[in-house]
Amino acid sequence: MTHTTILIIGGGAAGISAAIAARRSAEHLGKSCTITLLERNARPGTKIRISGGGKCNVTHRGTPAELLDKGFLRLNEKRFLRHAFYAFSNSNLLDLLRSRGVEFAERADGKVFPISGEASSVVVAFEELLRKSSVQQHFSSRVRSVERKGELFLVTVADASFTAEVVILATGGVSYSRTGTTGDGLAIARALGHSIKSSVAALAPVYTQKAPPASLSGISLRSAALVASAGGRSVERRGDLLFTHRGISGPVALSLSRDIAELCTEFGSASLFADFFPELSLAELEEQLLLHARKSGAQMVRKFLQSCAMAPHRGAFTETPHGTIPTAIVPFLMHHATIENLVTWSSLPKEKRQLLITTLKRFPLGTAGNVPLDQGEVSAGGVVLGEVNPKTMQSRIIPKLFLCGELLDYAGEIGGFNLQAAFSTGWMAGSYAACS
Ligand SMILES: Cc1cc2nc3c(=O)[nH]c(=O)nc-3n(C[C@H](O)[C@H](O)[C@H](O)COP(=O)(O)OP(=O)(O)OC[C@H]3O[C@@H](n4cnc5c(N)ncnc54)[C@H](O)[C@@H]3O)c2cc1C
Repeated sequence: MTHTTILIIGGGAAGISAAIAARRSAEHLGKSCTITLLERNARPGTKIRISGGGKCNVTHRGTPAELLDKGFLRLNEKRFLRHAFYAFSNSNLLDLLRSRGVEFAERADGKVFPISGEASSVVVAFEELLRKSSVQQHFSSRVRSVERKGELFLVTVADASFTAEVVILATGGVSYSRTGTTGDGLAIARALGHSIKSSVAALAPVYTQKAPPASLSGISLRSAALVASAGGRSVERRGDLLFTHRGISGPVALSLSRDIAELCTEFGSASLFADFFPELSLAELEEQLLLHARKSGAQMVRKFLQSCAMAPHRGAFTETPHGTIPTAIVPFLMHHATIENLVTWSSLPKEKRQLLITTLKRFPLGTAGNVPLDQGEVSAGGVVLGEVNPKTMQSRIIPKLFLCGELLDYAGEIGGFNLQAAFSTGWMAGSYAACS
């Protein structure tokens, strides 16, 4: 049996950050303490290594308020993360890594990556920081259970046990299970008395019950609106959408996947639609198409669709930066609106014009029956936020237990927000764990 002051379970972004912060905080307070980190993989930072396609989109440009606004769409999550994002901001994170020689570049879209183009440079920097912080690291050590024994925690791995004064649970979410995230921490938190919101995928591709036509696979719709409906409820987001051989993906599908997964969990499935003209209401689109039809009566509707801009603003079907409606999708629009190939605007009956308008505003993409949890870049759900103090990351249920990272019930957008959230909540947990 080994005794330690602070024991951290999970050596991902949150656990690493917690360990470094705990040492700094202890030194600041002049406290001597042992810090132990248990990680089930053979090395720390497995997910950091694969993040951003191996390039590690480590954070995002902006103030903490801007990051929260852009990266977290649900108000309760924004509120919960606020303190942590101010306590350990993106500049704090980048300064920490710069202290180990890692330099960064910001992309035009605000994403921040190491200049090396290698996620491993970030992990190596953290490994050095962990060593400098005298953190006792145990790899290939999968924690089986955590129990409260009087004033201490008893933490058991396969071939050893530890007693600890403080425990920080940083075991991540439940997606990409091959990286070590199989939900152990959720079971541990539940056994200790925490409520767990069931997990759904976020930032995942969406599979449709019937695969899209093969000719659409790889086709993207720029700046369309993706709408998902089930049980009288509807969710919508705007962005680029990609058809895949199993359904849809691309930024807008990834972003809305969590909402779609929730609709599927509640109602069994969700109907998906694309709106090619999200800037215009049905009535505005009708008015504009009518004007166009009067001016260009001899033009074939098919030709119009093939040269029509994606997501145009009022008054201009041709001028947008989003390209035109992809040619490959035009036959499907025509078929859905029951318009023959050679029909011109002047020969298009009113009912068919109206059917075309509803098709363009609500083009069916299929029925989502499943958003694969394991393929989510993150998982939503986890330890209920109300049971964790957002100013310290300490459990409101078990004193001296801290929880941080993706284990908690939040999920950010693509752009470096999830790693920043893990680093920020981890930093806060470590800082306060050393004080408790
Ligand atoms: C493919 C992919 C790409 C991504 N790209 C980005 C990106 O570019 N930018 C971004 O911001 N976010 C990205 N993310 C999301 C981001 O990586 C995670 O949100 C973040 O790493 C979560 O950090 P964490 O420390 O909470 O959890 P994790 O990094 O998952 O770490 C948890 C650790 O706990 C360990 N563990 C679990 N159970 C036990 C146990 N019983 N005992 C001991 N150890 C245990 C696990 O092995 C794991 O190492 C990506 C995710 C994936 C899957």
